[in-house]
Amino acid sequence: MKVVCLVSSGFDSISLLNYYINKNYEIYPIYVKSGFKWENDEIQHLQDIINHINKRYELIKSLKISHAPNDFFEEFNKREFINDEDVEIPFRNLDLLINALKYAYSVDAKLIAIGIMGLVAFKDNSYNFIKTINDLFSMYGDYKVETPFLGMSKKDVFDKYFIKELFDKAFCCMNPINGEECGVCSKCKEKQVLTT
Ligand SMILES: [Zn+2]
Repeated sequence: MKVVCLVSSGFDSISLLNYYINKNYEIYPIYVKSGFKWENDEIQHLQDIINHINKRYELIKSLKISHAPNDFFEEFNKREFINDEDVEIPFRNLDLLINALKYAYSVDAKLIAIGIMGLVAFKDNSYNFIKTINDLFSMYGDYKVETPFLGMSKKDVFDKYFIKELFDKAFCCMNPINGEECGVCSKCKEKQVLTT
């Protein structure tokens, strides 16, 4: 079974990859680039993570880097993303899923996976959104969006699915400074919660 996995270099993404490694699926990882300031650091770490996984799991394909330009959200790069409410990027999951659908079409995969948990009430981060997206995508063929972590806590996902040996390779920061995590943004705070 083929699955297109929407990933970054964070804990949830590594857990998502592992979820499908456990199922022995053929994994097509995709990263969607939109011009945000954390992307180059994330891609570098993600590439390293995938190379590492590939040494013991050959069913993971090369990383696909796709583009969904955020022409209307350039001011986002000026934010420091300290507060959770600053983190919402409008239409983000919609953008990600549409790119993943196109990639799925091109590699003849029917399953698309995204590691959302629905913890923050963004409009495109809910059961209802995923149900609606599935209704929409089914108009194009036998496509299905799967969200194995929806409804779970970050800690549960981390404990159950994270590949612990990749802890030092994970990188999740919305305000990286010279390639290092800033330690104070919303994403860096999440990491601190997981490790305490
Ligand atoms: Zn940070």
